[in-house]
Amino acid sequence: MPRPILATIHPQAIRHNLERVRQAAPDAKLMCVTKANAYGHGVERAFEGLRAADGFAVLELAEAQRLRQLDWRGPILLLEGVFEVRDLELCSRLGVWHTIHCDEQIDWLAGHKTQVPHRVFLKMNSGMNRLGFTPERFRSAYARLNALPQVEEISFITHFSDADGVRGIDHQLQVFMEVTADLPGERSDCNSAATLIFGGDARVRNDWVRPGIVLYGSAPDYPARTADDWGLQPAMTLSTKVIGTQTLKAGDTVGYGSTFTADGPMQLGVIACGYADGYPRSCGTGTPVLVNGVRARLLGRVSMDMICVDLTPVPGAGMGSEVVLWGQSPTTGAVLSIDEVAAAGGTVGYELMCAVAPRVPVVSD
Ligand code: PLP
Repeated sequence: MPRPILATIHPQAIRHNLERVRQAAPDAKLMCVTKANAYGHGVERAFEGLRAADGFAVLELAEAQRLRQLDWRGPILLLEGVFEVRDLELCSRLGVWHTIHCDEQIDWLAGHKTQVPHRVFLKMNSGMNRLGFTPERFRSAYARLNALPQVEEISFITHFSDADGVRGIDHQLQVFMEVTADLPGERSDCNSAATLIFGGDARVRNDWVRPGIVLYGSAPDYPARTADDWGLQPAMTLSTKVIGTQTLKAGDTVGYGSTFTADGPMQLGVIACGYADGYPRSCGTGTPVLVNGVRARLLGRVSMDMICVDLTPVPGAGMGSEVVLWGQSPTTGAVLSIDEVAAAGGTVGYELMCAVAPRVPVVSD
């Protein structure tokens, strides 16, 4: 018998979430972000739910190649552009669009011999201070690019640092729009949070929006709003089973470091999941789980291969009971949001979905 842990991907939920993004930004083209192996869901599995996309945004050429192998002939954007000059050859061959965020990338393009004209997205650092040309240097970079015979079309891209937070998008949006105001070309600025929160805002010129996390069913502004508030469905369920039980009495402790002490009789279940499966060790006592679709809590520390959970509130729970770490119970339909679990571990849903370990078998439903 294989160890009873499983990640189930729900392409139908991804399809639903894509439609939800369309409603939020009806005039925009959707460039679905499938970097990091589609946020841990697997490019091929996620693609099943993303056939209605207008384009894809990826990190690496290998990811673009996988999409082409799936017969995706539409737009693919390399979000960080190429990492070295020889990547341009493959860009030409795959017909991949690429971001230009620094002078070196323009130098590489200038030296690139190609018959295939390139479409590039010139990136502005409008305040994130990660990649991109500052507003002051943006137009000279544009002029250089515009003079290259290798370049067929130039679009403009920026990335918001705090679309879901107190800073919002106002300042960055204003800088981006002002500096590019008289330049011809498409614009792309919104990630998931900006798309959902500001999609209907007339100031945001959304030729392309770039949703990532929302496609996978996580709320970009949790805990202000939940996935349920946004009408999103979980795209991944991590599930396992109870593989052992213990009956505790008052004073008994649980797991490494004895961090949990029972204050009365209780039933404990040991489940087949640990930090080596990608479950965060930072989740401690109280983190929610679903046992047979009923909310229960984790007890003590997460071990490498096992976690202990409180079976006391779940009538009839014992050996073999279904446990959902996040996602949807296949037997009851109850949902445990990945955002809630992530928050209990002091992190975000993005990290959990990307961190599911290779040893966890994956299926699609
Ligand atoms: N655009 C860029 C440039 C990004 O780096 C990312 C993700 O990090 C996204 C869009 C998608 O962001 P989110 O998953 O928050 O929608």
